[in-house]
Amino acid sequence: MPAYAAPLRDMRFVLTEFADHARLAALPGCAELVSPDLVDPVLEEAAKLCSDILFPLNRSGDEEGCALENGVVRTPKGFPEAYAAFREGGWASLACDPAWGGQGLPKAVATLFEEMMCSANLSFGMYPGLSHGAYSALTKHGSDELKARYLPKLVSGEWTGTMCLTEPQCGTDLGLIRTRAVPRGDGAYEITGNKIFISAGEHDLAENILHLVLAKLPDAPPGTRGISLFLVPKFLPTEDGRTNGAMGPRNAVACTSLEHKMGIKASATCAMSFDGAVGWLVGRPHKGLSAMFTMMNEARLSVGVQGLGLAEVSYQNAVAYARERLQGRALNGATAPDKPADPILVHPDVRRMLLTMRALVEGCRALAMLTAVEQDVARLHPDPAERQAADDYVQLMTPIIKAFLTDAGWDATALGMQVLGGHGYIREWGMEQYVRDARIAQIYEGTNGIQALDLVGRKMGAHGGRYLRRFFHPVLAYIEEKAEDERMGEFVLPLSKAFGRLQQCTAEVARRGLSDPFEAGSAATDHLRLFGLTALGHAWARMAEVSLAKEDDAFYRAKLATARFFFAKMLPETSSLAAKVMAGGAALRELEDAAF
Ligand SMILES: Cc1cc2nc3c(=O)[nH]c(=O)nc-3n(C[C@H](O)[C@H](O)[C@H](O)COP(=O)(O)OP(=O)(O)OC[C@H]3O[C@@H](n4cnc5c(N)ncnc54)[C@H](O)[C@@H]3O)c2cc1C
Repeated sequence: MPAYAAPLRDMRFVLTEFADHARLAALPGCAELVSPDLVDPVLEEAAKLCSDILFPLNRSGDEEGCALENGVVRTPKGFPEAYAAFREGGWASLACDPAWGGQGLPKAVATLFEEMMCSANLSFGMYPGLSHGAYSALTKHGSDELKARYLPKLVSGEWTGTMCLTEPQCGTDLGLIRTRAVPRGDGAYEITGNKIFISAGEHDLAENILHLVLAKLPDAPPGTRGISLFLVPKFLPTEDGRTNGAMGPRNAVACTSLEHKMGIKASATCAMSFDGAVGWLVGRPHKGLSAMFTMMNEARLSVGVQGLGLAEVSYQNAVAYARERLQGRALNGATAPDKPADPILVHPDVRRMLLTMRALVEGCRALAMLTAVEQDVARLHPDPAERQAADDYVQLMTPIIKAFLTDAGWDATALGMQVLGGHGYIREWGMEQYVRDARIAQIYEGTNGIQALDLVGRKMGAHGGRYLRRFFHPVLAYIEEKAEDERMGEFVLPLSKAFGRLQQCTAEVARRGLSDPFEAGSAATDHLRLFGLTALGHAWARMAEVSLAKEDDAFYRAKLATARFFFAKMLPETSSLAAKVMAGGAALRELEDAAF
């Protein structure tokens, strides 16, 4: 059976030694909230919740799945009690505004908790995960009345949220939405249509569910410019508008079926029917997509963290197995001569797999932390220019975090399974569940191919390349600053090569894309990976720099060893990626459609 212990030591490292902790602490109201006195007990309690309550339900939840009975979705055994513990512990409100009953913790801290939940039980994490996105969209775009009525219950976790975009004919292309919203004349709307694949669309964990639904008004212009966002509660408010006490009548929204799927089986993926359901406009008419993007951008960063969480738990279990499993002898002589064979940890190929997983996990955790800190700066810094600069960085990194971290989740969980050989493939050891659970993260919230297009098509050229400069300038400055530092040479030299490749490819993709968008599209996925690996290289160089000063401690020695593995064995992939980007799109055009 697998095990999980939250990697608290590394989490503290990325928060207080790697990220700019002083900058975070200097944000208004944050000094105390990011002090070790407060953060350490929060992380320890979070670790307990995840290890003791959520993790034991991961396997049983996978086996049992959800069931639809008379329109009610039953989550697996133990989930309602676990959700009650989650809610009563105040975890739903961790990063929410105190004005709505939240605890106001920075995103930097909340991200670490999110990672733990994804490691312990990704399916469970889906329920509160979407609530937080709904909270953000309502906070930013909802009317004062909607906020007052719905936010306190969402923040307390008594109610949960969903995002309802997808329809059978409309996935990536949201311009194809058919769901209609008709004004009732009293400020409310009647919503009619069918949505599919709605995570947490119906369940028995909370007393009410708030659906954020994309739909079209009768006078909507065609395409994505004509989409509006509505809040549609499962239970309507009582007649006097109260949200406390008794619930109002049931709204005309129902789960019609549950999807049977490869992974995250304990997360209810629902087909939903809206049959003249009552809803309220969130934001302005026809501007729903930009309002929904508040939720989607947040969800994309969270989905990246899903990949990270699964990579971490898979790594922990692969290492434990590699220490115990005896097969063959070490190539340079037995390490356990008293035993019938050596542990497989001695074999170079097993070490390659484990180190790849480790370098991905720790590097991705560092990247996620950098982005979370910038989210906090973008929200809280008193200087508008600083807020803008931080937001630019978050905009740029969102598709990279989503796609690169979820690809890392898939790669790492597959390696984790491989470390266990045939035992990884059978169910008993739990490793195959991580592979199955990791796969969806590359698909939902905009497939990774779409993230790559977002990077080359929108983010790179935005505001004359302003977003790009938020990454390129600091990396270049760092490389120049460390150029003469002998101890950093082994890290900075390969980083500067990778960075040069990224600069060249970015310029070339932009140049070709101007005259022929097919060219930019052809390069997008390789370019995003090149970007992600270079960003990881920058993070690993900085982690190595911190660690060089503290080599007496085993934790920092391990960091340095992992950094060296990353620069020697992983970053060189940027060379082949650059070659693929520079090769252009001709090879993708040549084969005629009919010949496929
Ligand atoms: C378990 C699960 C949970 C989900 N949860 C939710 C949820 O809570 N709410 C919600 O609204 N949706 C949800 N979804 C839906 C999910 O977001 C979509 O499946 C996803 O966005 C892709 O849409 P699609 O499946 O229709 O694929 P399509 O859009 O049909 O895409 C098929 C393929 O074509 C590619 N493609 C499409 N258009 C382009 C293009 N312009 N350029 C290049 N490539 C393109 C895609 O990358 C993909 O590889 C969920 C799905 C699953 C399976």
